[in-house]
Amino acid sequence: MLSSKKVQYPYDISIVVPLLNEEESLAELASWIRTVLQEHKLSYEIIFIDDGSSDSSWSVIQQLAQEQACIRGLRFRRNYGKSAALNTGFQYAQGEVVVTMDADLQDSPDELPELYKMIVEDRFDLVSGWKKKRYDPLSKTIPTKIYNGVTRLMSGIHLNDMNCGLKAYRNDVVKTVEVYGEMHRYIPVIAKASGFDKIGEKVVRHYPRKHGVTKFGMNRFINGPLDLLSIIFISRFSKKPMHFFGTMGLLSFFIGFLILAYLSIVKLLYSEYGMTDRPIFYLGILSVILGSQLFLTGFLAELVARSAPNRNQYAIWEYLQIKKKKEEDDNEED
Ligand code: UDP
Ligand code: MG
Repeated sequence: MLSSKKVQYPYDISIVVPLLNEEESLAELASWIRTVLQEHKLSYEIIFIDDGSSDSSWSVIQQLAQEQACIRGLRFRRNYGKSAALNTGFQYAQGEVVVTMDADLQDSPDELPELYKMIVEDRFDLVSGWKKKRYDPLSKTIPTKIYNGVTRLMSGIHLNDMNCGLKAYRNDVVKTVEVYGEMHRYIPVIAKASGFDKIGEKVVRHYPRKHGVTKFGMNRFINGPLDLLSIIFISRFSKKPMHFFGTMGLLSFFIGFLILAYLSIVKLLYSEYGMTDRPIFYLGILSVILGSQLFLTGFLAELVARSAPNRNQYAIWEYLQIKKKKEEDDNEED
């Protein structure tokens, strides 16, 4: 039974590395991974996803791929964001265990063997890194602490460091979970909503950024709360979050309608006052308008959700040592 895994997966580990302008770090990262995994006799592939870099990252990846057969590359035509990059890497990962890792050498490849073990031997669906000792500025660590606390409360997932870039998954988890928008910060919540609830945590080393600058500026303060709101809806109303808006809309519309109907009847029967003389009339009107708006919001959300299959189509410019999905599927049919 144990040997069946080797038949199914060509590698022990796939390392998925999203990157944007990280030219100085890539070669060092690749050689560090190689040293660690060779020592532990683990087979692997590295999938670099170039998320629209404008520096020479892609040439570096091309060079590396030429030297090492286990290095793959994917290049987006423009910057789609870390979630898009991860999601694409997930699609192509062939390893039994899939590990995501930032390209900037802040995460340590030394953690790979232990993460692998936790997935394969301890049977976790997902293991998330915990940067207990963190080398980031306070402006980043404080908001992160708040998000982590709130997310823990809302999702019931007890992770200290939800957004750690270093995470390991069983292959079927990444093939099921869809990461879109800016959701890479909450993959464990999405995984849990899909039924993968054996979620573990491992304290990991974390280093200061060696080269280049962080790619998430002030917009993390706008996106963070928005992501959090979405995630609350996903985890609380996991079947149809958008139904919440539609239902509230219908309710409000109905209340408004009742008020107006009542006023019309009173007017017809007694006609003492004009309808607009009663303050409650305005409440009725407001309820009806608000209700229709909310209902439309819910409807729009439905439309977006229904077009979900298109959500994750990113313009991929080049592939390196990757069999394109379509070719693969065609070959399978033969
Ligand atoms: N990244 C990416 N696309 C983006 C922004 C970032 O692929 O639009 C990559 C980045 O190159 C790095 C990882 O995501 O490999 C984490 O980014 P960064 O180190 O800037 O984030 P921080 O560590 O500051 O949270
Ligand atoms: Mg970083």
